[in-house]
Amino acid sequence: MTARPGRWALVRPEWQAVRHAVLERDKWACQHCGNRRRLEVHHVKRVADFPELAFQPDNCLTLCAGCHTIETNRELGRIPDPKRQQWRKAVAELATKPVEQEENTHA
Ligand SMILES: [Zn+2]
Repeated sequence: MTARPGRWALVRPEWQAVRHAVLERDKWACQHCGNRRRLEVHHVKRVADFPELAFQPDNCLTLCAGCHTIETNRELGRIPDPKRQQWRKAVAELATKPVEQEENTHA
């Protein structure tokens, strides 16, 4: 478990009221995919960077857990790049293939 900056805001009593207001405003549905389950409230501008916006409903967006993870990863610059994923897969295959071939020649 990694400590997320901005976590302080989520344990404040004010947050519960803001969170509920945002969920009501967004009709209890993920604003990315429309999912109505596992809803979380996302800060559009990070609390770590904009602590004064932590309790501003305008800075909050209802997202499902899946979309929230994607959004958080994008903020942290960890969005998986499909090209890089392909490259990694290709490299992994190249790395394993010669070993298999070697085993075959020895057999
Ligand atoms: Zn979603």
